[in-house]
Amino acid sequence: MSDPSVIIIGAGFGGIAAAIQLQEHGFRDLTLLDAAPGLGGTWFHNTYPGAACDVPSHLYSFSFAQRRDWKRLCPTQADILQYLNDVARDHGVDRLLTPDTRVTACRFSDVDCRWTVETEAGDTYEADAVVIATGQLHQPTQPRLPGTEDFAGHTFHSARWDHQYPLAGKRVAVVGTGASAVQFVPEIAKEVAKLSVFQRSGNWFLPRKNLPYPRWVRAAIQHVPGLQAYRRRFVFHYGEALTLAIRHPRTVGRVVHLRSRRFMAKQLRDPEVRRRVWPDYTFGCKRVLFSSYFLPALQRENVELVTDAVIGLVPEGVVTADGRVHEVDCVIWGTGFKTTQFMFPMEVTGSEGRDLREAWAEGAHAHLGISVPGFPSLFVMYGPNTNTSGGSIVTYLEAQAGYLRQALQQVRERGAGAIAVRPEVEAASDLEVQKRFDGTAWTQCDSWYRDERGRIVTNWPGYMGEYVAATKVLDPSEYTFLPKPERVREAAHS
Ligand code: NAP
Repeated sequence: MSDPSVIIIGAGFGGIAAAIQLQEHGFRDLTLLDAAPGLGGTWFHNTYPGAACDVPSHLYSFSFAQRRDWKRLCPTQADILQYLNDVARDHGVDRLLTPDTRVTACRFSDVDCRWTVETEAGDTYEADAVVIATGQLHQPTQPRLPGTEDFAGHTFHSARWDHQYPLAGKRVAVVGTGASAVQFVPEIAKEVAKLSVFQRSGNWFLPRKNLPYPRWVRAAIQHVPGLQAYRRRFVFHYGEALTLAIRHPRTVGRVVHLRSRRFMAKQLRDPEVRRRVWPDYTFGCKRVLFSSYFLPALQRENVELVTDAVIGLVPEGVVTADGRVHEVDCVIWGTGFKTTQFMFPMEVTGSEGRDLREAWAEGAHAHLGISVPGFPSLFVMYGPNTNTSGGSIVTYLEAQAGYLRQALQQVRERGAGAIAVRPEVEAASDLEVQKRFDGTAWTQCDSWYRDERGRIVTNWPGYMGEYVAATKVLDPSEYTFLPKPERVREAAHS
C-alpha cells in the first residue's frame, strides 16, 4: 500500500483545503503550485480599495479553523489573506508551496498511470494525481474595444489594481458594476476629481455596511460559549434562504425581491439615477450585490452614471454609443473574469489522449463538479456547477477537499493506479444538475454563469447543505479503479 503522490495547482482556499485534508490523512508526497508569488488565490490578487468578502467571516472560513477575533462581520481582503496564510502555516502546508509557477499543461500517461505537469518556465513535475484548484475567478477579462491601444491615459483591471497610480484628483472611468466595482467605486469616488461609472446592467442590492464590531460585540464573540458556532449556523441558513429565493422566484423570491426594492428605493433619492440603475431582470438571476454605499456613491456630485454602451476608446477617453467622448485620465476595468474558461488555456490531456477542451466542447461538466470521465485521478475544485449564489464557496471547497481525499484513500487502500468516474454516473449527475435549473431565477437572464451556448456551467443549482451531503461519502461503485502498471508495482516491491 503506497501513498499516491499529488500535485495541487492553485493555492487559494481550495488548494489549501485539499493540502490540509490530504496531509492530515497521511498523504506525504504533496506539491502545491501557484502562479502567484504567494498563496491566497483570488485574495492574493484582488487588492482593490474596499476589497472584502460579502459573506460573513464565520462562514467564509474553514470549519476546522474558526476564529473569534474577526474585526467585522465581513472580512477585508487583508484579513482573509492573513487568515489563509495563518491557516496554511498552522497546518504546515505553507512549506508545500512552490510559488511563481504557472502550470501550462497536465498530461496523463496510460502507460505509467501517472500525471506529468508542465510549467511555463519549462519545468515538469510528476505525480499519481492532480488537483486543479484554480477556480472560476482567476482570469481577468476586459472587452476588446476599438481604440484601446490609442488611449493616452492609464488603464488597469480591478483584479490587478495599480497601487502605484495615484487616483487622487484624476478623471476616472470605471467600466462594469459587478461585485468588485460596487466595493471600490464608493472608495475611489471620495478621492478622484470626476468618476464616470459605465453600467451595462443594473443590479439588485441588499444592505451591507460592514462597520467594525463595537468592543462589546467582539468581547461577546470571544467569551460567550457557542455564540460563534450559533452565528455560523445562522449565516449558513441565511445563505440557504437566499438560494431558496433564487430557486423559487415566484414565491419566496418575491419576498426577498420586495426587501431589495425597498432598500434600493430608499437609497436612490435621485429619480433619474433610480430609473437608470433599476434592474430589468428577475431578482437573483445575476449575483445579488450587498452594499449600502454603492448607490449613494452614484449620486455624489463628482460621479456620473453612464448607461450608454461603451463602444471604444480614443486618446482622450471612452466613447459611448451616443457618440459622446467621456474624457478621462484612467480607465479601470471592473469587467470580471473568464469564468467559464475554468483552468484553460492550461492543456489537460487525459486517458487515451483525450483533450479536456474537447470533452467540454458542449459545456463544462463533471461529477459533483470534481471528477471528469476519461481523466483518471484528476480532481477539479470549484469546478463546473459548484459556484454558489447564496452561501460560502469555502463550504463547497471544504466538501470537495474531503471528497477527493476519500477518492485517493480508495486508490491507496486498493493499491490501484488511479480512480476514474464512470461515464454513465457523470452523465446522469450532469443531467440532474441541469434539470434542477428549470424554473429558477438563474435561467431568466444572461449572466457570467452561462457559457457561450447559454448553458449554466458555473453554478450549483441547489443548496449548500445538499452539496455537502452529496460529497460527504464517496461511493466507490460510481468509480472504476485502474490497475497499477506492472513495472510500477514491481519497483514498489523492490
Ligand atoms: P462581474 O460580476 O462579472 O461584473 C462585471 C461587470 O462588468 C458587470 O457589471 C458587467 O455587466 C460589466 N461588463 C462586462 N463587460 C462589459 C462591457 N463590454 N461593457 C460594459 N460593461 C461590461 O465581475 P466582478 O465584479 O469582478 O465580480 C466577479 C465575481 O467575483 C462576483 O460575481 C463574485 O462571485 C466574486 N466577487 C465576490 C466578492 C465578495 O464580496 N464575495 C467581491 C467581488 C467579487 P453585465 O452585468 O451587463 O454583464
